[in-house]
Amino acid sequence: KNGAKDTLSQHIPLEFEAEAGRCLACDPNAIWEEIRDKQLFVGVPSIPVTSTFDRRKNSTRLVIISDTHGQHRNVHLPKGDILIRAGDFTKTGEVGTIQDLSRYCEESGFAEIVVIAGNHDMTLDPEYYQRKWQRFHRIPHDCQAAQAAIERNCHYLKDSTWTSLSGLNLYGSPFSPDFFDWAFNRPRGPPIRQVWDKIPSQEELPLDILITHTPPLGRGDLTQEFVRAGCYDLLQSIQTRIKPRVNIFGHIHEGYGTSFDGQTLFVNGSSLDVRFQPIHRPIVVDVSHADKA
Ligand code: 5GP
Ligand code: MN
Ligand code: MN
Ligand code: MN
Repeated sequence: KNGAKDTLSQHIPLEFEAEAGRCLACDPNAIWEEIRDKQLFVGVPSIPVTSTFDRRKNSTRLVIISDTHGQHRNVHLPKGDILIRAGDFTKTGEVGTIQDLSRYCEESGFAEIVVIAGNHDMTLDPEYYQRKWQRFHRIPHDCQAAQAAIERNCHYLKDSTWTSLSGLNLYGSPFSPDFFDWAFNRPRGPPIRQVWDKIPSQEELPLDILITHTPPLGRGDLTQEFVRAGCYDLLQSIQTRIKPRVNIFGHIHEGYGTSFDGQTLFVNGSSLDVRFQPIHRPIVVDVSHADKA
């Protein structure tokens, strides 16, 4: 484990000087070219694919879905301890969708459900929705009703921390880099870094699971146009400061899947593909308690 960490710190030159006047963090493709050779991609820890579930004492089973965009009933949920949803569960923040999702999750029998919002779940970003609702709806949805619906049967994380029954530390944030001015968007560079700076450092609070809507740069972030859409500042914060055991996200539907850098398991759990078809299976991850830092 230490070996992997040492290799990482030796090989990841995450700090480098930008040319004067240029925000390198604002250009994910350019920065990816600079760091890609030094990024480790090692075999992902084995992921159970069986549909049977023995509640083992030594681990917590996560079932991960994301980006259901109203089609949650087309996503079959295997059993597990914690259901995690990484945002974009609506098309445009529809309160009815949030309420139905609540019911669906209740029926699914998870002891705990953890959720963050994404750029489509705009009624959970009242400041944004008050400014922009007319772009999406003829009659505004009620942001307070949306907030009540999301909080009804799950742990809704919005730049906040939560501890599971089994003692895992989780943190969730809904933000993603600017893209056509949707909800919870922040410009790349210093504005979005401010969001990640609120996440506790490993020394402060060792996070087992970090849930973000956006992928970090280079992990499940390659779009169908073959551009990297992930957030450099998030990658840098994860690899050098936060060091969570698992980073769960969605947002870039075509980046569905997992990768591992020797320190953090990266999971893009997008349930819909890039054409919004519900064809990606929930990703199941067992987080062992024995390996806990
Ligand atoms: P969503 O609208 O659900 O947030 O994202 C849907 C799709 O839009 C993604 O699968 C991806 O193809 C594209 N997309 C979203 N954000 C970005 C971005 O920041 N950059 C690029 N190039 N594509 C994005
Ligand atoms: Mn989406
Ligand atoms: Mn509507
Ligand atoms: Mn999204």
